[in-house]
Amino acid sequence: MKIVCLDLEGVLVPEIWIAVSERTGIPELRRTTRDEPDYDRLMKFRLDLLARHRLGLRDIQQVIHGMGPLPGAREFLDALRETCEVIILSDTFYEFAHPLMRQLAWPTLFCHSLETDADGRVVDYHLRMPEQKREAVRRFREMNFSVVAAGDSYNDTKMLAEAHAGILFHPPENVVREFPQYPVTWNYGELRAQIDQAFARLEG
Ligand SMILES: [Mg+2]
Repeated sequence: MKIVCLDLEGVLVPEIWIAVSERTGIPELRRTTRDEPDYDRLMKFRLDLLARHRLGLRDIQQVIHGMGPLPGAREFLDALRETCEVIILSDTFYEFAHPLMRQLAWPTLFCHSLETDADGRVVDYHLRMPEQKREAVRRFREMNFSVVAAGDSYNDTKMLAEAHAGILFHPPENVVREFPQYPVTWNYGELRAQIDQAFARLEG
């Protein structure tokens, strides 16, 4: 009874906000959970920037339609889903993720939602619940699953801590330094090997 919980951005797809920053020419939108651990502060900062530059949801969705998964992500995910349950736990929004999920063959995704006004401006965001990633892992454990979690940033570290085993994937240096307890992987081959080893330890 195995579940792998995966982060989305930086693990299976590129950072969405960085792509939006590059396409729109707004450098401040490059700020991500890698730089700002306080998610609410980061989102308020982003929504304020969108408002000031008069960018609506459709503008951002246009950028995302031009994006694809990271090279090899689809194959990694397909192979993993043959051996265990896979749930993607992400701090992105369904309004953003949809075209990327299609390219990943519709894996299960738990994330958040955006609120827009009549003109399509993003006026607010709604978290499913505080600490969704950690809480989901906790609930899966209560359901007697062995849980292995993998992510790349600050917003994943509580999920990694809550899981039976946590793995970092292509993390920035500061996260590696602050969380030395987790194995660090740099490609899908290494990540898959760590996942298999963790389950072998847990269920062996
Ligand atoms: Mg990430």
